Amino acid sequence: MTGNMYNEEDLILLSTLQHFAFCPRQCALIHVEQVWSENLLTAEGRIMHEHVHEEGDESRVDVHIERGVSLRSLQLGLIGKADVIEYYRQADSTWQAFPVEYKRGKPKPDDSDKVQLCAQAMCLEEMLNVHIPAGAIFYGKTRRRLDVNFDEALRQETQDAAQKAHALIESGQTPKPVYSKRCESCSLVAECMPRTIQKKRSVESYLKRMLDET
Ligand code: SF4
Repeated sequence: MTGNMYNEEDLILLSTLQHFAFCPRQCALIHVEQVWSENLLTAEGRIMHEHVHEEGDESRVDVHIERGVSLRSLQLGLIGKADVIEYYRQADSTWQAFPVEYKRGKPKPDDSDKVQLCAQAMCLEEMLNVHIPAGAIFYGKTRRRLDVNFDEALRQETQDAAQKAHALIESGQTPKPVYSKRCESCSLVAECMPRTIQKKRSVESYLKRMLDET
């Protein structure tokens, strides 16, 4: 990192950030230990293929749509692609960018999808020197668009997550599992074994306490 900017060689993938925002352990399993579940790999590959590559760019009088847009931010230290960027013509003839991310499932209780979308917007803002106030996530299961405002709180959360994801990758350490509701929708639950490992840890710490006391 130089000043408060990252160098090209230190950039991490936008998907790393999204995995981190979902669960730091999942992020480390994938991006540090290279544990790939066949499910995750094939599902993610298929989604990208289905939604991004089939159609080209589109232009109408007031809307222009670009697909598979390359993104980068040296401030956040991120590189990757956006599924879709829509541009809407404004009254003053300028174009307002509006990122749209496609997800197979339904809205999650956590902010990981919003953080990923906000990071895309922040990359684009840095690249184009514009302000992007909002975007949307399209969920395949509900077939609905969820509008997302990039307010200060979400921007701060995104910035913090990017910093922490960088620190995690640099540390090369995989955090221990903490079982929670998100594990039910995690594609790496079989590899992670959150319940078994957590139980083993609590038995170990119980035995250690007993030994310390005697
Ligand atoms: S199973 Fe739970 S703790 Fe393990 S990687 Fe997935 S979300 Fe994280």
